[in-house]
Amino acid sequence: MVRPVMKDIFFLGQKSEPATKADVQVGRDLQDTLEANRAACVGMAANMIGIRKNVIIISMGFMDVIMFNPVMLRKDTLYETEEGCLSLPGVRKTIRFQNIEVEYYDMNWKKQRIKLSGWTAQICQHEMDHLEGILI
Ligand SMILES: [Zn+2]
Repeated sequence: MVRPVMKDIFFLGQKSEPATKADVQVGRDLQDTLEANRAACVGMAANMIGIRKNVIIISMGFMDVIMFNPVMLRKDTLYETEEGCLSLPGVRKTIRFQNIEVEYYDMNWKKQRIKLSGWTAQICQHEMDHLEGILI
């Protein structure tokens, strides 16, 4: 289901809680909401649709990856960049890692590990920040 995009800074500033297998529907709602905002959005966190659970979605270009309870295992090489956010106006400067490795549960609740670099790594870090209540 397509959900309205949360813009309440107080809500978005709160930390999210661990997701469980019962939250798989949240992943589907994120998928639908990202699809509806595709022109302006490359990733989302569950709190952006009003659900404070550790679920994110990242557009990889050719496909979207939904991650439950993502954990950063490795990160290296900082650089400065600019980002926008569907929940905020404009773009802001931020610092990101070039390369990351993330462990997460997928829609079938199987543990997965993925190495990301550059653009997709940047999106993933932005969305994982949302789970901590951190905005750019
Ligand atoms: Zn954002």
